[in-house]
Amino acid sequence: MEAAILDSRLSDATTAFLSKNRRLLINDEWVEAASGKTFPVYNPATGQVLAQVAEADTEDVNRAVAAARQAFDEGPWRRMTASRRGQLMWKLAELIEQHLEEFAELESIDNGKPLSVARVADVPLTVDMFRYMGGWATKITGETLPWSRPNDFLSYTMREPVGVVAQIIPWNFPLLMAAWKLGPALATGCTVILKPAEQTPLSALRLGELIQEAGFPKGVVNILPGYGETAGAALAAHNDVDKVAFTGSTEVGKLIVKAAAGNLKKVSLELGGKSPTIVFADADVEKAIPGAASAIFFNHGQCCCAGSRLYAHESVFDQVLEGVSAEARKIKVGAGLDPETNMGPLVSEEQFQRVTGYIDAGIKEGARVVTGGKKAGTSGGYFVEPTVFTNTRPTMKVVQEEIFGPVVCAESFDDNDLENMARRANDSLYGLAASIWTKDISKAHKLARLVRSGTVWINCHNVFDASLPFGGYKQSGWGREMGSEVLNNYTELKAVTAKL
Ligand code: NDP
Repeated sequence: MEAAILDSRLSDATTAFLSKNRRLLINDEWVEAASGKTFPVYNPATGQVLAQVAEADTEDVNRAVAAARQAFDEGPWRRMTASRRGQLMWKLAELIEQHLEEFAELESIDNGKPLSVARVADVPLTVDMFRYMGGWATKITGETLPWSRPNDFLSYTMREPVGVVAQIIPWNFPLLMAAWKLGPALATGCTVILKPAEQTPLSALRLGELIQEAGFPKGVVNILPGYGETAGAALAAHNDVDKVAFTGSTEVGKLIVKAAAGNLKKVSLELGGKSPTIVFADADVEKAIPGAASAIFFNHGQCCCAGSRLYAHESVFDQVLEGVSAEARKIKVGAGLDPETNMGPLVSEEQFQRVTGYIDAGIKEGARVVTGGKKAGTSGGYFVEPTVFTNTRPTMKVVQEEIFGPVVCAESFDDNDLENMARRANDSLYGLAASIWTKDISKAHKLARLVRSGTVWINCHNVFDASLPFGGYKQSGWGREMGSEVLNNYTELKAVTAKL
């Protein structure tokens, strides 16, 4: 077993957290995996081991599901008022806020993202999500329904928690994705087994400690780090799980759907994207350029809604291409803990190979690299230069497939027909997001209607709020995260009718 090597810049709290082997959270207890196995978690900036974490497998999944089932069917959670549930969530938000720096450090060393970004984005958005969803706990209502024979019947509906929920999350925003999943599940009164990604389990494990400190009843939240093919697959297939919520690749999303068929558990999926950024001739180009650059380079392009296809009108194309490339060249790539860093390493060796493989494929198919295209940095980390391609064609792999790295394909368009532009934007098996850059607000709204994606941003990109529903058309997923809409994923609707 490789020894953990920790950065001396980490706070005492983070160092202390990482100095112990981390375990599974089952029924309010931190336990070893039944197999006794652990797996290493790596620092993507160095390739060195950060911590050893217990590796959940089928037996641990069975124990966690049994705990969540008991907590749902028999525990105090079920009888707790919605108001109390909301208060617990607010308490959790407060605790996360108190430990903001520690969470930011864990996200930075585990995922690779700049500490400065985790401080202002990942952790505060997580706090907001628990507060926002905690507020919903007391506002989940049904309706009184108007009957055509009002004197004979009284009918009303009520929303009830769907039950035991398995939540499988990815590594790009480890803590925030946990909050997107746990928030609505807890607000609606479900119980949970959360499986973080093998690459980034640390912040979810620290969150588990705060969930205990906040005082959630035992078995309500169980946390099982482990591998997708084993722990994840066992959760998705488990007959005593009522719902699975998944964020990750479209490929694995399809496996989840198949695995869920056994007991027809409910499924919600937030999957991949290949989102267009569309810059019209009448855009405020000075704003569109940094906007388009940030659309793809934020979080190293490891965003499901990254603006990875850039379309600019031919009259401004050269200016936009050069501008976005200049922005790319300005980005300082380095370790997340370095205060100068704007972009950290990719999350893992595997992701590094995948992204550089796509860059090679683009070059082979005839795309031109305007900037980037190579490994960055000299350390053992997984750094890639922010990369801008042009001379791409719609059929190329780099234009069709989700790269999930800092790589954008820029193409020009020459007509102002919105239907044509929409066809181009919609030429993807995904439909997660799009951004439209123009000063003509009427045109922007018309195109927003034509684009088949769950989110459309106008003169902005990558803008999120706990109140905004987020999810995809087509192969970008099923259902929506966040907003009031997500509550439907976690509730069953019951119609009650009385004969008067
Ligand atoms: P995956 O879809 O494999 O991983 C997402 C989560 O699913 C992880 O927790 C993973 O576990 C788990 N998982 C993997 N296989 C199974 C399975 N058979 N049953 C149940 N759960 C499973 O993404 P990758 O990490 O492999 O990334 C590959 C690509 O996926 C990226 O390049 C990107 O294109 C896309 N992606 C999209 C994301 C999004 O936000 N939409 C997020 C992450 C990736 P574990 O990692 O522990 O093995």
